[in-house]
Amino acid sequence: MLLCAVCNGIRMLDLVCPACSYAAEDYGRASDWNGPYAPYEPIEFEDMFAATQLEDVPVCRHSAYCSHCSHTFVVEVVME
Ligand SMILES: [Zn+2]
Ligand SMILES: [Zn+2]
Repeated sequence: MLLCAVCNGIRMLDLVCPACSYAAEDYGRASDWNGPYAPYEPIEFEDMFAATQLEDVPVCRHSAYCSHCSHTFVVEVVME
């Protein structure tokens, strides 16, 4: 079964802002942008597969934000 280790609280994302190289923060799944961020809730695989079925490798897209330069970007976490 494929899981995003970050969404399930198994590990933290170690993010670097591509614009300024400062540490950036994980803002949760990109598809959950409008919802509450609940990192320890199990994620249903079917939802994620529907969102990523065009990818060769199943990934979970995370929104990230750099508080240093206000840059937002998407990080793809490979599910394992
Ligand atoms: Zn995730
Ligand atoms: Zn930045």
